[in-house]
Amino acid sequence: MKLALVEPTSPAPDADTPLPVLQLVGVRKTFGEFAAVDNISLDIYEGEFLTIVGPSGSGKTTLLRMLAGMESPSEGNITLRGELINDVPSNRRPTCLVFQSLALFPHKTVGENIEFPLKVKNVPPAQRKERALELLRMVRLPENYYGKNVMKCSGGEKQRVALARAFAYDPDVLFFDEPLSALDYKLKKAMEKELKDLHRESGKTFIYITHSLEEAMVMSDRIGVMRSGKLVQVGTPEDIYSRPADRFVSEFVGEVNVVAATKKGAEWSADDFGTRLRVVLPADLAAATAASIVVRPEFMRFVDAPSGADNVLEGTIYNEYSLGSRIQYQVRVGEKTFLLELSRASAFKGAFDKPALIGWDARDAIVVGA
Ligand code: ADP
Ligand code: MG
Repeated sequence: MKLALVEPTSPAPDADTPLPVLQLVGVRKTFGEFAAVDNISLDIYEGEFLTIVGPSGSGKTTLLRMLAGMESPSEGNITLRGELINDVPSNRRPTCLVFQSLALFPHKTVGENIEFPLKVKNVPPAQRKERALELLRMVRLPENYYGKNVMKCSGGEKQRVALARAFAYDPDVLFFDEPLSALDYKLKKAMEKELKDLHRESGKTFIYITHSLEEAMVMSDRIGVMRSGKLVQVGTPEDIYSRPADRFVSEFVGEVNVVAATKKGAEWSADDFGTRLRVVLPADLAAATAASIVVRPEFMRFVDAPSGADNVLEGTIYNEYSLGSRIQYQVRVGEKTFLLELSRASAFKGAFDKPALIGWDARDAIVVGA
């Protein structure tokens, strides 16, 4: 038997494991003492739609700038198909970045904007136009937009022009830095779906950053969650939603109820209420004596008796919000507020100012480190 001296950074490639198109190993970026990106290792696969989400200031743009070649890492390595590219400038990489600001040439036509990358490559005019018209169709703009001044286009149309221009570079990898954040809600929702379609149709690798998890959930094959320069979890949307790695991720994923719990002897109890809790611990927390119990609003319900669920608390309802087919209730238990979400059919039938019992079953809670 041979002993491995160095821990491999990723599993050995075989027929089922495609080679990563981009690979980050221990990547750090510091500004003075401050680490904007802190020790990130990540494999990005050919053709995937990977989204990096995180609150403002978590280091998303800095990470993307390093991937796009606008910034070099202070430490660590970035490889593109096995070739080290730490210091290769953006114009020498087969990648293209689409900004929120779009950076279109304002006094030029839609056609001139889209053809710019082709002009730089000395593609003859007739061929350029043919490709530009093809790209217009791809981003679902009418062909007669070819001669239109780009400043006369609406926000969503400019977005499409910027996309068409990015595709004109024919990059292997497209980067997007919050490209939809300036659009109104309805247009944003429509563009999310179009981007996802465009990703499928083009077969390119998309690396997208946003502070909106909702946006990430709609479009991505995988999501990476960043906090304070670190990548705290990478997984499918389903992984991130159902098995958040820690309390930060669970709270980032949406409105959740979090109950701090401590184990005394063989029993778990809620720190804030002293109530005994039934808890199903994941294997990695088997020995923990403190934990956060995360319960999504849709997994909590009103019960008639303390035996109505594994865990029951007594509180008072102080508000309800209609979400159309569902209703949300805010219930105060001591100092804490719980959020319950029920279908209209199972709406609360009791009185608002009387005590109400709320509960959840142990298997419906997510237990993360305290
Ligand atoms: P995000 O895109 O997630 O909002 P950024 O990558 O833009 O975050 O920034 C992460 C942190 O790094 C922020 O605290 C920001 O102020 C800091 N930062 C980014 N670029 C620079 C720079 N050139 N010099 C100093 N600090 C920077
Ligand atoms: Mg940013």
